[in-house]
Amino acid sequence: MASISLKNITKTYGSGKGAVPVIHGVNAEIRDGEFVVIVGPSGCGKSTLLRMVAGLEEITGGELHIGPRVVNNLEPAKRDIAMVFQNYALYPHMSVFDNMAYGLKIAKVPKEEIRARVDKAATILELSHLLERTPRQLSGGQRQRVAMGRAIVRQPQVFLFDEPLSNLDAKLRVQTRLEIQKLHRELGITSLFVTHDQVEAMTLAERIIVMNAGNMEQFGTPEEVYHTP
Ligand code: ADP
Ligand code: ADP
Repeated sequence: MASISLKNITKTYGSGKGAVPVIHGVNAEIRDGEFVVIVGPSGCGKSTLLRMVAGLEEITGGELHIGPRVVNNLEPAKRDIAMVFQNYALYPHMSVFDNMAYGLKIAKVPKEEIRARVDKAATILELSHLLERTPRQLSGGQRQRVAMGRAIVRQPQVFLFDEPLSNLDAKLRVQTRLEIQKLHRELGITSLFVTHDQVEAMTLAERIIVMNAGNMEQFGTPEEVYHTP
């Protein structure tokens, strides 16, 4: 687990005459093990912020700390983060086990270690009885859990969620949300979760960052953010 510290983070896309500033100086201290939701309207800069934490987007100004390290110039693979995306692209021809194991194989993690990590993730996600199936033989909810399993086996310090519930039907959205909550209770991994949905923010967050037009407007508990007099 690790804290995340955003110190006056800015982002400008393009340069010179084409420069478009989109994040104007965000300061936030996210605690070890905390579940923080970034909420705000479309275009306010939520996913830019998340992608900067992930290392998928260059940081224009400021300092980003994950745990004790300044990670501004660290490549994504070295940041101890795992992302859970909206579109869980599973490999259709591979078993559930191989889908979860794939990244670890590429990273040359020893076989027994891979087996142990996948088994542990499968137990947490209640996928142990499905490891030999292919994605086609799974329900939507089970596929979502495999996608989370892939993130878990990396043993990250931080989970980053980019609107993972947005494209799901109502039933699956609730199921997946409960799954994410359970995961957080059991593993307690520091999590940053982006959504445009206030209800999602309220139900999931320990604290909420409210973004608007590239600025952090509020940072507080759901009660503080949604019950201001
Ligand atoms: P959100 O996730 O809140 O919808 P984004 O972070 O995707 O917002 O976008 C924030 C702003 O940055 C928007 O105005 C968007 O048009 C702009 N933007 C996003 N990506 C790029 C890019 N690659 N080049 C230029 N502008 C971009
Ligand atoms: P693939 O080969 O399918 O892209 P790998 O696990 O080999 O998957 O990862 C390739 C690169 O992408 C590595 O640098 C890895 O750290 C990064 N990566 C893969 N999955 C994730 C994830 N869920 N979150 C963050 N980074 C990831």
